[in-house]
Amino acid sequence: MPGVIGETACLAICGAGAVMAYGVRGRSSTLFAPSVYRGPDSQRAIAFTFDDGPSESTPELLRILADCEVPATFFQCGMNVERLPEIAREVARQGHEIGNHSHTHPKFYFRGPEFMHEELARAQAAIENATQVSPVLFRAPFGVRWPGLRAAQQSLNLLGVMWTVIGRDWVLAADAIVRRVLPKIENGAIVCLHDGREVSVRPDVGPTLNAVRRLIPILKAEGYRFESVSQLLCPTN
Ligand SMILES: [Zn+2]
Repeated sequence: MPGVIGETACLAICGAGAVMAYGVRGRSSTLFAPSVYRGPDSQRAIAFTFDDGPSESTPELLRILADCEVPATFFQCGMNVERLPEIAREVARQGHEIGNHSHTHPKFYFRGPEFMHEELARAQAAIENATQVSPVLFRAPFGVRWPGLRAAQQSLNLLGVMWTVIGRDWVLAADAIVRRVLPKIENGAIVCLHDGREVSVRPDVGPTLNAVRRLIPILKAEGYRFESVSQLLCPTN
C-alpha cells in the first residue's frame, strides 16, 4: 500500500504538531486522503451539504428544499440509514445526492486502516441497500483524516469533501448560523450544515432548518444557483 508508506514517511519528516494538526483537520489538507473543499469559482453556483442524517427531522428539511427547488447533498451515517431507511430512500427519491459519512460517526484519531475501511464499507453497504445509490463522495466525521484513510477511500472509490464554510449549527442559533455563513459564500462554496447529530435519535436541528429557510432566498437573490456537490465539481455534467 504505497499510500500508507507515503503517509508514514511524511509524518516522520514533518513531525511538527502544527503540520500534523493541519493534515488531520485542515479543510484544504489532502495529506491523508484526497479531498476537496470548494468547487470552481468560474460559475455562480454553490452546494449545501447536510451531515449526520437521516434523522426524524430530515423530511421537514426535504420539504423546505422542495419548496425552494434546491438540490443538496446529504452525507449520511450508515447507522442512521439502517434506523430510518425510508427517510434515506426519500432523500434519494427527491433527487438529492447522497454521500458516505461513516457508519457510526467515530473520530479517526489513532484508528487503524482496517477500522476506517470497515466504517466506510459498512456505511456504503447500508446506503446502497436502502437507496440503491452508491455514493462517490465521503465526508470524514468531525473532518478528521488519519493515515490509512486514503486507502479506505480509494478501495471504495470515494472522493473526500470538506467545506468552504461550516455553520456550527450544532451549537449556534439560527440568526448566528446565518450571520456566520453569509459572508463566506462565494462562487463554488460548499456549505456544511447538519440534519442529524452524529447517531442520536430525534436530534434537535430546529436552528438549522430555520437558518436554511432564511439563507436560500437571500442567496438566490444574490444570483447563486444551488447544485449537488458532484454537479458543482463537474460543471459539464
Ligand atoms: Zn458528522
